[in-house]
Amino acid sequence: AKKEGKNKYVIFSSQVNIESYKQFMLRNDLHAALENEQFQVYYQPFIKLRTNEIIGAEALIRWKHPKWGMVSPGEFISLAEEIGVIVSLGNWVLREVCRNYRQWLNEGLPAMKISVNYSGIQLFEKDFVENILKTVAEFELDPHFLIVELTESILIHEFKSIKSSIRALQAVGIKVALDDFGTGYSSFAYLHRLKIDFLKIDCSFIRDIPLNNKSTLITKSIITLARDLGIKLVAEGVENAEQLSFLRYLNCYTGQGYFYSRPVPKIDFEQLLAKKICE
Ligand code: C2E
Ligand code: CA
Ligand code: CA
Ligand code: CA
Repeated sequence: AKKEGKNKYVIFSSQVNIESYKQFMLRNDLHAALENEQFQVYYQPFIKLRTNEIIGAEALIRWKHPKWGMVSPGEFISLAEEIGVIVSLGNWVLREVCRNYRQWLNEGLPAMKISVNYSGIQLFEKDFVENILKTVAEFELDPHFLIVELTESILIHEFKSIKSSIRALQAVGIKVALDDFGTGYSSFAYLHRLKIDFLKIDCSFIRDIPLNNKSTLITKSIITLARDLGIKLVAEGVENAEQLSFLRYLNCYTGQGYFYSRPVPKIDFEQLLAKKICE
């Protein structure tokens, strides 16, 4: 740092600062991005592994930034949480999903499940469940189509309040999925204390099966555990045929991953839906 006059510091440290410069700019731009319609919802199909049928999709947000290009949610969700934009962003995602799904039903496409990622901050909003129901009703949809994906990290605080939010969701037919299972500190505590409908095995376990013995054993026992507890499973990050055939052999029902399809824009997802299966 070089002192420039009174309280001014100019820092010359290239790598670190391009990153923080970008973050700084993104944080600023987030406020207006919703209004400027820079977000898009992409869909990644959920596949019934035995038949390759599409049985649903995960909605994943994208930011088309005029200067930085496609910004991944990994880069901006935590910023949106910091500055409180996450609530309106999340409401926008759900509304977009409901609008799309309404259109698909009108076009005669079959019912399916669509999952939406939620941040902990959204869960603690007053009227969290009521707001979901309002949006769902606005598009004349039955809430049963919706899966709310939560990660373990967001659940760590306020266990009681999370528990009542989850109960309230389930009472109206919304399903709850525990995302990135196995990566948190207390995966088992969550399963023990909460009623979870879906468990998503984190891609870090799927990545090395079936060649790595440890990953394989862990995946196997998660599958057995979920089955014994009556929880449905989704394997995340299925990237190749070897992983797929091994997951089929273990009778894992559902998967998602680049092997079938990357997350794609609405129109590309509609083309997948028209074919009914993914190959
Ligand atoms: P996630 O919920 O764990 O989503 C799965 C991520 O894995 C997605 O990254 C997806 O593109 C990627 N993925 C899918 N298949 C494969 C595969 O076969 N291999 C590999 N290596 N990756 C795969 P994405 O879309 O960049 O999203 C990153 C994270 O951002 C999500 O992780 C989720 O936590 C968060 N996110 C995305 N959309 C939203 C949203 O609308 N609201 C909130 N609160 N968070 C969101
Ligand atoms: Ca997710
Ligand atoms: Ca995940
Ligand atoms: Ca994740």
